[in-house]
Amino acid sequence: MPGPYAWPMPHARHTPDLSIVIPMFNEEAVLPLLVDRLRPVTEGMLTDGVVTAYEVLAVDDGSTDATPVVLQRLRREWPQLRVVRLRANAGHQAALTAGLDRARGAYIATLDADLQDPPEAVRQMLVAARAEGADVVYGVRTDRSTDSRFKRWTAGLFYRTQRALSGVEAPLDAGDFRLMSRATVDAVRALPEHHRVLRFVIPALGFPSTEVGYRREERAAGESKYPLSKMLRLSIDAITGFSLAPLRFATWLGLLGGLAALGILTFAVGSRLAGHTLPGWTSTVVVVSAVGAVQLLALGILGEYVGRMYAVMQGRPSYSVAHDSLEDASSQDQTRT
Ligand code: UDP
Ligand code: MG
Repeated sequence: MPGPYAWPMPHARHTPDLSIVIPMFNEEAVLPLLVDRLRPVTEGMLTDGVVTAYEVLAVDDGSTDATPVVLQRLRREWPQLRVVRLRANAGHQAALTAGLDRARGAYIATLDADLQDPPEAVRQMLVAARAEGADVVYGVRTDRSTDSRFKRWTAGLFYRTQRALSGVEAPLDAGDFRLMSRATVDAVRALPEHHRVLRFVIPALGFPSTEVGYRREERAAGESKYPLSKMLRLSIDAITGFSLAPLRFATWLGLLGGLAALGILTFAVGSRLAGHTLPGWTSTVVVVSAVGAVQLLALGILGEYVGRMYAVMQGRPSYSVAHDSLEDASSQDQTRT
């Protein structure tokens, strides 16, 4: 008779050597193409003995198109494909976090669904990590010519500002394509921070790292899920997550505004004494609006930080999992025993 110890332990049974986490939001068009490119890579690693087991963890970030249906269909032919469905669209970074929280692998790679990150490089990353004993392998874009001029320009500005403000040496032109060791993922997960921007949090850990260069390709199908508003949100999270410089900027601006007001005051008193009877309307409006603008800016900057603290204090999860296909599999196992 099987005792209580005969219960299967679904999470401990097979620790895969590699988890590949792929956040996706409305990616029905690109999914079949992704599988066609990715599966040969993972199967190749199996046959060459680079890994003995792997999982591909698709995080469906609340897609409203046929993505969940396509994933379910793909799962029937690809047992290593695991699907975690989020209840609502949580955003790219939160979907990545969901994937990292659930991935079981000894190494965890993250890549975009749209084939802009070549799946073949994952194998190179794993080999590099083992050979060099690195905890993190960054995918670094050697060629961004396929990104739009606007995207390249804003990305360049963003990385440089971020570097200057935070002092964190994040590799330039590294997005969210990277491979991490279990220790790295556990360290990231232990951070209480909400809205963490992984591409800066991970370099800030300072773990041994190396790089693998790759050519950024064109999105294989579908449209970008990163409108300007999401890009701005990411930049603000990254900057306020790492630096108090904007708060100081507010102080300086306030000081400058004060000095300017003093100057204008002197001028106004001077011209009054000199007997110039100006209507004074223009100067009043200018001063009031200038001071008002500075105050609003300072308040806004303050608000960003207060908002971050508020989010951490609320302790609300940044995503909610509706369904994990791994749990289906284990419940089936339990009914079988
Ligand atoms: N993504 C996501 N949730 C979102 C937005 C995007 O999971 O709310 C995924 C998207 O499906 C893709 C990756 O994040 O796999 C990067 O998005 P995208 O390729 O649209 O961004 P871009 O390359 O244009 O910056
Ligand atoms: Mg993309």
